[in-house]
Amino acid sequence: MADLQYTPIEEIEKIHASLQAGFKSGRARDIKYRKHQLLQLAYLLKDNKDRFNQAAGLDLGRSYPENEILEHYVSLEQIKYTFDNFEKWTKPESAEFSIYFGARPQIRKEPKGVVLIFVPFNYPIMLLMSPLAGAIAAGNTICVKVSELLPATSSLLAELFPKYLDQDLYRIVNGDIPVSTKLLELPWDHILYTGSGRVGKIVAAAAAKHLTPVTLELGGKCPTIVDPRVNLKVAAKRILWGRTSNAGQTCVAPDYVLIPKNGEEAFINALKEAYREFYPNGTTEPGNIARLPNHGSFDRVKGLLDDTKGTIILGGETDREAKYIAPTIVKNVGPEDSLMKDEIFAPILPIITVGDFDEAIEFINARDHPLALYIFTDDSKLKEKVFSNTRSGSCVCNEVVLQIPTPGLPFGGFGASGNGGYHTGKYSFDLFTHQRSTLTMPNWMEVALASRYPPFSSRKSKLVETLSSPSFPPRDSVYNPRGWGKWVVGFLTLGASILWTQRKNLTAH
Ligand code: NAD
Repeated sequence: MADLQYTPIEEIEKIHASLQAGFKSGRARDIKYRKHQLLQLAYLLKDNKDRFNQAAGLDLGRSYPENEILEHYVSLEQIKYTFDNFEKWTKPESAEFSIYFGARPQIRKEPKGVVLIFVPFNYPIMLLMSPLAGAIAAGNTICVKVSELLPATSSLLAELFPKYLDQDLYRIVNGDIPVSTKLLELPWDHILYTGSGRVGKIVAAAAAKHLTPVTLELGGKCPTIVDPRVNLKVAAKRILWGRTSNAGQTCVAPDYVLIPKNGEEAFINALKEAYREFYPNGTTEPGNIARLPNHGSFDRVKGLLDDTKGTIILGGETDREAKYIAPTIVKNVGPEDSLMKDEIFAPILPIITVGDFDEAIEFINARDHPLALYIFTDDSKLKEKVFSNTRSGSCVCNEVVLQIPTPGLPFGGFGASGNGGYHTGKYSFDLFTHQRSTLTMPNWMEVALASRYPPFSSRKSKLVETLSSPSFPPRDSVYNPRGWGKWVVGFLTLGASILWTQRKNLTAH
């Protein structure tokens, strides 16, 4: 295994200072230069595809095809989309027409400055390239802290970064907690942190000391509701794939299944069939399932399996030496089970039965807002009910994980699973862009603006009222909780008063 050279702590302030100087040089803001650097980034990946595949194999036991599907092509797509489109994103945007039109109100798209990006171990290339492309396109200088858990990949990145990218503008830092801590002491113009909620709190607290804006992309447990009336064969395949690819170490992997009791058996049969299809020669065959990054992660996951009160119906085998956990399905899992305490982050899928879908919704709402929520159903009313009555970073029907690479969708968490949204295309650019408001007021606008100066008079007040006092529709015209009731009461009152008058007239005659 490659030896990972940590960045010396005393270098970190120098790196920060040189990135600040690089930003001041203006080079990162030159559009042609941004384009050139984006192209370099693409070639860094393309030229070294095999080396990245090898590194992912060493660090995470990933097969070449799995690595290319999960990281390589998604990252290249993201860089290409940014490369093709970012020039138009940098153009100033005119504000909507208003009485201030004469001042040509505009939003300038300016880089935030010197930004820091933390990359977790589970998708070291995709979660590096996607924000990096956005941050370069937005004109920032950038420091990237990659994960110390991946010696081969992180060493390769440290070797290639200076060969392909401008070192005055884009730097890579390697190291563990002391390095991260030192980085967090410094004033950055934005921090993007992807990782666990536990460390996310440390990052947010450190950022607050400098009032640094921070985006947290965290994890958690992603629930998956299964309606037994759906095509269970397809549902089982998709869920099993989402749960087991990258050995279950995906932030949006389906973490547990909620299914009505009467559908459990059929769903388990479908899972067994998918399992046989995925692993015809067994799960230990090299390349079929990735490994955990270290023995600490293995021990944590093994502990969850040892402590579960559920029944293992598929898998369950482990090998500490190989950091291997077999794809595992567990039924009869209760809400207090070891597997339900934290994000599992391994290829283990607990199944929890519920009385009905309302109970499933309640179960989800009683916990932290998930990063992703999945529902497998063909019933559009049920889908809408789940979408409307829960909260999560993303919500997907009949699919898992693919909300991440879908162009045009921001990706991010909500509440305990994080904040902000980036990943695809313009959202990554926007994350690292300051939307700067500008006005250029001409003198002739004095005609309209002079009433703000003292001495005030009723004539000036009248002019301000005419120009600035908006009119609204009647107060009950948009929302009336009494609705039809009001009309019914009105008609009944009218009817009663007509009858009463007629009766009165009759008695009078
Ligand atoms: P982690 O939080 O352990 O580490 C992430 C980074 O934080 C590393 O660079 C590490 O060096 C640094 N770090 C660790 N301890 C620190 C400390 N005490 N002070 C300062 N820095 C510290 O996360 P991980 O294990 O690499 O990644 C797994 C987690 O990331 C999972 O929870 C997963 O769900 C989440 N994740 C989220 C997303 C997303 O987009 N929301 C994507 C991938 C992973």
